[in-house]
Amino acid sequence: MLPPNVYDAEPIPVAARAEIERLLSSGDLFRYTAPANAPVTLLEQDFAALLGVRYALAVSSCSAALFLSLKALDLPRGARVVIPAFTFAAVPSAIVHADCTPVLCETGANYRIDLDHFRQILDSGVEAVMISHMRGHTSDMDAILAEAAARGLPVIEDAAHSLGTTWRGTPIGTLGDIGCYSFQSYKLLNAGEGGILVSNDANLIARAVIMSGAYEHNWAKHGTDAALEAAFLRWQNALPLYNLRLGNLSAAVIRPQLAELARRVRDGRRNHDHVAQRLNVSPWIDVPEKLALEERAPDSIQFNLIGLNDTDVAAFTEAAAARGIKVQVFGASQDNARAFWNWRFLGEPPDLPQTRAMLMKACYVRLPARLTVAECDLIAEAILRAAQEVMGNLRAFGT
Ligand SMILES: *Cc1c(COP(=O)(O)O)cnc(C)c1O
Repeated sequence: MLPPNVYDAEPIPVAARAEIERLLSSGDLFRYTAPANAPVTLLEQDFAALLGVRYALAVSSCSAALFLSLKALDLPRGARVVIPAFTFAAVPSAIVHADCTPVLCETGANYRIDLDHFRQILDSGVEAVMISHMRGHTSDMDAILAEAAARGLPVIEDAAHSLGTTWRGTPIGTLGDIGCYSFQSYKLLNAGEGGILVSNDANLIARAVIMSGAYEHNWAKHGTDAALEAAFLRWQNALPLYNLRLGNLSAAVIRPQLAELARRVRDGRRNHDHVAQRLNVSPWIDVPEKLALEERAPDSIQFNLIGLNDTDVAAFTEAAAARGIKVQVFGASQDNARAFWNWRFLGEPPDLPQTRAMLMKACYVRLPARLTVAECDLIAEAILRAAQEVMGNLRAFGT
């Protein structure tokens, strides 16, 4: 059996075709052309209902959503915003884009925020908290929300890659003041590009809607509750228009995928947990446990190599590649966008030994929901044998 292809996306549900055909024949591609019920508006309504939040705003990417979240909070220029040091380069970039300053917090071997360092950073003075639930690994949200609330700090959740994950049964991205999700192709809902932000706060969402490009009275197409309307009237003409809107075609691609979400979450979790259980048998591999209050929606697996030095790590990824499985190590390539020392646009990288040590040993392999358990077994087998080959033989010769 050949190793499975873990890169291809799932086909877009056939239900999208009729709507796309209708949009192509009418040319109705802009969200604000129709008087009501544009595909983007319907996507926002469906998404908000699915997550149980009051408001959603669809935009051009999750990065745009993160940028608009910071702008919606009206932070002063240069405001310090704490983020986990284990995240994607787009996150500190969104902060720089909003004229704020990212402050990197240590993350542990379990990929989650180190709460002692987090408290230290909050005490050193920050104006907002932006939590990336990186690859669906949820940091302790009870602790984070409590620490932020005690200091009156707003919390933005970067749930780009965590749609479907819950904390105490509540969807990740709906716990803080604003949550942001991605529709880029490697995330759970695929439109090529796109993003969405959610909030229960009428003032924040009104500011984000206007700045996303709801010029003149287009905000009226975002709903009519009294709190929202009052907020729109407050901010009309007072804010810049950054034009980060989503188009109708993208919305038409995403909407029918919402019905697929539960299946993708269920099968992705099954695949992840199956491979995790197999890998954890190896003395050289550790898949960190999820936190007790978290239910995950993984589409990849992360694991740490135990007792391997940098040469062993390289030999291990080569041995896995020879078996047809591409294992990436976050810190091992020259250009990995999730290694904080590669974010040279921030200047000299801070000294974060714990996160650095984790990134040098943390591997990842995509495990899309469409894989069968048999295909997952092939992946697990290749990883186990690669570790055995590199470490088992070394041990035998070394003793
Ligand atoms: C993908 C991703 C982003 C960026 O999303 P875009 O829609 O591509 O801008 C941000 N944060 C995390 C954790 C991501 O995985």
